[in-house]
Amino acid sequence: MKTIYPATITLAAASALAFAVFASDTQVKPERATEMLNAQNQQFEKKIVKVSDSVYTAVGYHGANTSMIVGDDGVIIIDTLRGPFSAGIALKDFRKYSDKPVKAIIYTHSHGDHIGGASAFVGEEKPDIYATETFGSAEGVNKAVDPVKRKRNIRQFGRDLPASQATNRGVAPANTHDKDGGKGFVPPTILISESGHKVNIAGVDLEFHLAPGETDDAMFIWMPKEKVLFAGDNFYHSFPNLYAIRGTAYRDVLNWSISVGKMAEFEPHHVVPGHTMPISGQEAATAPLKDYSEAIRSVYDQTVVGINAGKGPNLLAHEVKLPEHLKNKSYLTEFYGTVPHAVRAIYVGLLGWYDGNPSTLNPMDPRAKAQKIAELAGGTQALTAQMKAAMEKKEYQWALDLSDHIKWLEDGDRDLARKIKIEALRELAAQEYNAPNRNYYLSYANELESGALSEVWF
Ligand SMILES: [Zn+2]
Repeated sequence: MKTIYPATITLAAASALAFAVFASDTQVKPERATEMLNAQNQQFEKKIVKVSDSVYTAVGYHGANTSMIVGDDGVIIIDTLRGPFSAGIALKDFRKYSDKPVKAIIYTHSHGDHIGGASAFVGEEKPDIYATETFGSAEGVNKAVDPVKRKRNIRQFGRDLPASQATNRGVAPANTHDKDGGKGFVPPTILISESGHKVNIAGVDLEFHLAPGETDDAMFIWMPKEKVLFAGDNFYHSFPNLYAIRGTAYRDVLNWSISVGKMAEFEPHHVVPGHTMPISGQEAATAPLKDYSEAIRSVYDQTVVGINAGKGPNLLAHEVKLPEHLKNKSYLTEFYGTVPHAVRAIYVGLLGWYDGNPSTLNPMDPRAKAQKIAELAGGTQALTAQMKAAMEKKEYQWALDLSDHIKWLEDGDRDLARKIKIEALRELAAQEYNAPNRNYYLSYANELESGALSEVWF
């Protein structure tokens, strides 16, 4: 029998109905999720990539990339990994291609995984160290909440996951040497304040371009002679992490799109991302930058249109989608960032937490609401039965919602609610190919199981 959908339901909506069992677009059958994450691992297998005549990039030596440009009488290092141990190994392997002294180090931005290993590259002759004028502004704004950010960071990256649960971190491998993180940081000595600033280092012409995006202090580096563009973290092989679930201040999404658009204008023959494999070939290197910029802009614009139509973040997070011609591009697969998280971040970034609906001006205390939900269900027992039924029907997100109500009920079976939450999180994780979501679900479930979380948190 042919299924007839009402004319207003699009094909995409029809298929969404058919797969309503998945709580989000980054969930697929567990075997498929594993297959996709395994395939993404190829983006950070440890190797030195010869990008062009004089550019070498070390991929997979830590979470991020470090690159070496070989000049006449010295080399230039772009980004330095998180700590001197990993950076030292990368340098040793770079030395197979050139033993010239390090004349300069360039930081694309101030995130720890790009700056903490600099000391490994500093020899007897002190190199100049370049960064933008606003270097370091990225993470300082919400220092007050560092204690909780640390916990969320561990979950997002799956730092405490056993090997059996670890996959990857979206744009980085699951395991990195982090004990010496930040120990090798050397402060910048030359600050760039102007886009297009040109330098000649060791006979190599380079241009610095301010590129606010993942951080406000980011820049990209253009090497005209070999048409190599070093993108920093505004581009890598995944939909961008426009919001990090570890908890970050607003990342200026519109600027991010503009910055990547500027990169595309150079029509590079090689693009070296901050994470994942370099891309070579004029069309191969330029098209992803154009698409990336367009994808970010589209998510931003759709969200803004929705906001101005009076829609709230919960609805918009489900409505906004990547344009049809972009959604199957491998470099826009949501391994690291996700569209719905970006939508929520844009909403809050532009308007703050209030969605404009007076019903949400003063929402009920969650404990009082849990009582009302139990009454609505026909009592706590009936609500508990609904939670179990949700698991049987594989409606894991709904099971999570109900377990969160039951945890507040005096007469609720809180042990059962906790067990079901653990189980639902693991089932959701198995379906996730978005690495931060997957890592967060699994880490949280392990914490709940070990009793590490307080009652309020579960
Ligand atoms: Zn990074």
